[in-house]
Amino acid sequence: MSKSFFPEYPPNLSNDNLQSLQELAIDWSLSHGLVIRPPTNLALSNNSSVMHAPISLFPSPFPKKTFYQAIELQPVFNLLFHKLSRNHEFITQVIEEVTKVDDFIDELYKIYLKIKEEGIAQPISLGLHRSDYLLHVPQDASEANVLQVEFNTISSSFSSLSFLTGELHRYLLESTKYFNSSELLKIDSLPLNDAMTSLPKGIAKAHELYGSPNAVVMMVVIGEERNAFDQRWIEYNLLNNHKIHIIRKTLAEIDQQGKLDPETHALIIDDKEISVTYFRSGYAPELHPTKKEWDARLLIERSKSIKCPTVAYQLVGTKKVQQVLAMPGVLEKYVTNATDAKKLRASFAGLYPLDSSSEGEAAVKLALENPERFVMKPQREGGGNNIYTKDIPPKLLEISTSERSSYILMDLIQPPSMRNIILRQGELVKGEMISELGIYGVFIGNDDVIVNEIGGHLLRTKGRETNEGGVATGFAVIDSPLLV
Ligand code: ADP
Ligand code: MG
Repeated sequence: MSKSFFPEYPPNLSNDNLQSLQELAIDWSLSHGLVIRPPTNLALSNNSSVMHAPISLFPSPFPKKTFYQAIELQPVFNLLFHKLSRNHEFITQVIEEVTKVDDFIDELYKIYLKIKEEGIAQPISLGLHRSDYLLHVPQDASEANVLQVEFNTISSSFSSLSFLTGELHRYLLESTKYFNSSELLKIDSLPLNDAMTSLPKGIAKAHELYGSPNAVVMMVVIGEERNAFDQRWIEYNLLNNHKIHIIRKTLAEIDQQGKLDPETHALIIDDKEISVTYFRSGYAPELHPTKKEWDARLLIERSKSIKCPTVAYQLVGTKKVQQVLAMPGVLEKYVTNATDAKKLRASFAGLYPLDSSSEGEAAVKLALENPERFVMKPQREGGGNNIYTKDIPPKLLEISTSERSSYILMDLIQPPSMRNIILRQGELVKGEMISELGIYGVFIGNDDVIVNEIGGHLLRTKGRETNEGGVATGFAVIDSPLLV
């Protein structure tokens, strides 16, 4: 199955032709902002140099029907996560057990409870999500479906680079036609992707709903995130297309400089009122090294600014919630339209608790006996945290039963592979690849739904043998789908 799923790809080209495509790809990337910052040892001073982003030379074939199925799921997921974020009973039941063994989740949960008690100053929340999927071909089936890897409710990245990679591929396909007439290489098969503009549009709409024309948007950026360009593109877009100013702050700066208006709970920083607080960071414990960062989180959460995400949104974006939703009957409690619930459930891979429940004990046994079928995940974001296959048994044996409940177990999805050529640090690498599709979602709501939209897509591609999928972590490249 895996070898024949996408035959005759990538198109056969002479070495000379490949080399000219390589040059075109590098120059197009450098001249159009499809770039990343180089590692420190290669960088010029003042962050003044870039290199082309890791990309695939050709778009990767992706089944058209399945692509649109994934797109259709997005508004349903957007609404589901909004509802969950407002369901106190659900959050308490699912998260409380994890807080006992996971300090990061515990700190978030404490803020959540405190705000719950004090009263929420801002009923509107903004979600800029990304739902990630791998292709799966069931045994004896000829068609693939998507299985969800995870749903991101905070700091969904790569919105601009994914758009730009699609544009690069449009250009490279036109160029390739000059020396190869493959039927597959149709520009029309590259779907439009509005990921570059959809996220800033969502922020702009939230800003408008906040209703103070003189307010500004605040982006929380820390550490590595300062080097990513997607947050800059959001900034350019907000200013150029929506005339909204944006300030960038770290959590430590917010702690030092931010205050709340005692009457209105408006968040004030640099004498400016903040309409929207957009977290392009803040998803991991290491981004909260001291009490200052947590104080800043609390200050923001208490404020009237529209948060993207709220702490509640962040909590329902955990892998634990994903696992609980997959349990029999749970998803169906929150997605009451049966057709929608069925569609979402069809995208769930096998997910299991690893706690002390009887299901948890059974999952431990299963994982010890057949580790090659699974991945074990802690409540973390940002890549590099999961434990794969043969590494699972030693980990399970090392940790206590209560520590186990901060992890979940998931079936390893084995997508069909295809051949493609990737371009990384100027060099081409050919090989068996697999792709992961991300669909962006934009949601604004309070008791009502105000905006519920699909926000474009991202395709990341990596070598067949690589477990992790992150681009920033160096495992994957940015790609775009060629719908077949
Ligand atoms: P993170 O929040 O750190 O990004 P993910 O759940 O997205 O964690 O996992 C990171 C990567 O590991 C994914 O991008 C994917 O490539 C791979 N991965 C995660 N879950 C699975 C799975 N069930 N089957 C196969 N690969 C997986
Ligand atoms: Mg991920």
